[in-house]
Amino acid sequence: RAGSDMGRAEAPGGNVRVVVRVRGFLPREIERGAECLVQMNPATEATTLLAPNETDPANARSKRGKTIEDKKFTFDKSFWSHEKKDPHYAHQEEVYNSLGEEFLDHNFEGYHTCIFAYGQTGSGKSYTMMGTKDQAGLIPRTCHDLFERIEAAHNETPNISYNVRVSYFEVYNEHVRDLLVPVQANQPPYYLKIRESPTEGPYVKDLTDAPVKNISEIMRYMQAGDASRTTASTKMNDTSSRSHSVFTIMLKQIHHDMETDETTERTARIRLVDLAGSERAKATEATGARLREGSNINKSLTTLGRVIAALADPKQQRSGKRNKDVVPYRDSILTWLLKDSLGGNSKTAMIACIAPSDYDETLSTLRYADQAK
Ligand code: ADP
Repeated sequence: RAGSDMGRAEAPGGNVRVVVRVRGFLPREIERGAECLVQMNPATEATTLLAPNETDPANARSKRGKTIEDKKFTFDKSFWSHEKKDPHYAHQEEVYNSLGEEFLDHNFEGYHTCIFAYGQTGSGKSYTMMGTKDQAGLIPRTCHDLFERIEAAHNETPNISYNVRVSYFEVYNEHVRDLLVPVQANQPPYYLKIRESPTEGPYVKDLTDAPVKNISEIMRYMQAGDASRTTASTKMNDTSSRSHSVFTIMLKQIHHDMETDETTERTARIRLVDLAGSERAKATEATGARLREGSNINKSLTTLGRVIAALADPKQQRSGKRNKDVVPYRDSILTWLLKDSLGGNSKTAMIACIAPSDYDETLSTLRYADQAK
């Protein structure tokens, strides 16, 4: 249990945060003359999905045979990343400042945290979590901020020392692969087993858990893991859109009491998760292996939705303790492994990533996010 040895209360401000981010048009959308179906009101955080107009062939199907209405949702925060020249445009920095920074505060207070990016393939999940070379996302920004704070603390609080470890794995088709172990040429992917320990809960056996001393070391692991994900993905027909990747930082604070000469430890786990594309959740036309894979993704995404909804349920919050039986962690590998980062004293955020002109998929993402509130 993170930090229980140092004592602390339930995380303040509720435990589940749900935000939404819309990206700009991609060249292919501009080519087809797509219209932006998303509106956001920065004053109320309301997000409206507009009914598409017939002229966009990509949305023609969603209109067929039914009357479509505008749909309005309200989340904790709406990030308008549609047009760069817009004064309300939310840059990577803003997303970090409004979510990542606060979550890191919680980690230093000893809480576990978990941030998920949910959405269809191409909606901006990797851009939000990892970002690009010039536009760093939440993961590299969290790493930088973490080591900046540790450096600053060295001078301010010399009686606290820090220990940071990193792991990076992906869950594909209910199997776990270590992204910090290089992919061997012409070798099938090597999957790890999951074990449960009475004290630590579920864990991945033999997963690389690398100690890191500074920003350049952690960035090297981050990049190696990302490269491994991409290499395997190319070999196995773009599995990255069909796998969940979990970047984990373990932050241990060792507090040395000068007077009594005693030490106390406080450990927090920082999970940053890029989920499989949500369009796979209903791969109805697939058969055989694809079908199995589709239903496995479906299972982890629906289970995750149910787990988060159960955690956000005010009835369970009021009762003071959560009924462990109603939170279906064990129904998928992903939720089972993230159990310690989701329940109890953990803080969870879901970033619903949406494309600007894809009515059906966006509606399904907004509904999924809405049930997690
Ligand atoms: P996903 O991970 O959901 O499949 P990506 O993150 O790869 O989607 O995004 C698809 C494309 O859109 C990429 O080329 C990415 O750089 C671009 N993109 C996504 N979100 C943004 C954004 N907020 N601003 C600028 N470009 C974005």
